Amino acid sequence: MKKKVTRIGVLTSGGDSPGMNAAIRAVVRTGIYHGLEVFGVMRGYAGMIDNDIFRMDSRSVANIIQRGGTILKTARSDEFRTPEGRTKAYNNLKSHGIDGLVVIGGDGSFNGAQRLSNEHDIPCIGIPGTIDRDIAGTDVTIGFDTAVNTAVQAIDKIRDTMDAHDRVFVVEVMGRDAGYIALHSGIATGAENIIIPETRTDIDDMIASLDEKEKRRKLVNLIVVAEGGEYGDANEIGKIIKARIPEADTRVCILGHIQRGGSPTCEDRVVASHMGYYAVESLLCGRHNVMVGVIKGKIHYTPLDKVVKEKHSIGQEWMKIVKILAS
Ligand code: ADP
Repeated sequence: MKKKVTRIGVLTSGGDSPGMNAAIRAVVRTGIYHGLEVFGVMRGYAGMIDNDIFRMDSRSVANIIQRGGTILKTARSDEFRTPEGRTKAYNNLKSHGIDGLVVIGGDGSFNGAQRLSNEHDIPCIGIPGTIDRDIAGTDVTIGFDTAVNTAVQAIDKIRDTMDAHDRVFVVEVMGRDAGYIALHSGIATGAENIIIPETRTDIDDMIASLDEKEKRRKLVNLIVVAEGGEYGDANEIGKIIKARIPEADTRVCILGHIQRGGSPTCEDRVVASHMGYYAVESLLCGRHNVMVGVIKGKIHYTPLDKVVKEKHSIGQEWMKIVKILAS
């Protein structure tokens, strides 16, 4: 029988996402409710290796549910990729008596947690924090809703000025491997075209349709591009349009890191609170090496070694709808 956890550590690792603070708060307060001692690990696995670990209480997480970023900070650590680095990290956890770990991060962070757990027998529970939403075993990830709403607000503003000048705008949103932010923000802002990594884009077809719209004086055209698109970034696509339709007034805007920051939406705070609570419950009931996800509104556990970046097939149907609605 597994021994009961008494002291748990919590960390945020890899790419940051809005809502991580709400998850930290939920982990700390659920742990304290159950009589556990809770420790914060600063800067992900880098802080674990440096023994940057401190005791947290209920007040440590006061007034953070609405804040973007992460009070525990986040980092990437190459040393943790080595068995020696992980042993160092584990020894530091042991020196504090930590016997269970909650890792808030993406698939890379879960991979690291799985290795640590296999080598040193410490149960780890993952909470998916990523704006990209491309994680297997969950319909939602902490930060996606905030990021996509930030993109929508920014694109709405761009639309005002592009409309005033009759311009074509290519707007790049985040998503190196996943087009969710582009797809959702593009649909919500009435984009004429959306270019995402999951679906092939016929660039000739896109140019022909832009050309046709220019000819019938529909001069305001918005193209939303995910950074990982097949034709390169927004600048590259802007160049193609400028070369092939020189009469169009084409501009490019890259939204960048504003999508990672800001106060988390209600949805992200709720998701983070839900997952944080169940992460601690999981440790208490002896689960180990699983990620807490939500599928169809219900908590769902996936073994950490099955949590990979998931390429969802984004249906062609959506692209057809986008085309019809933008005609
Ligand atoms: P994310 O968690 O957002 O996917 P990364 O892929 O950068 O971010 O992973 C975060 C950290 O997790 C890395 O800096 C590294 O310390 C650890 N990590 C990632 N993959 C592994 C691995 N295969 N083995 C050990 N540690 C890993």
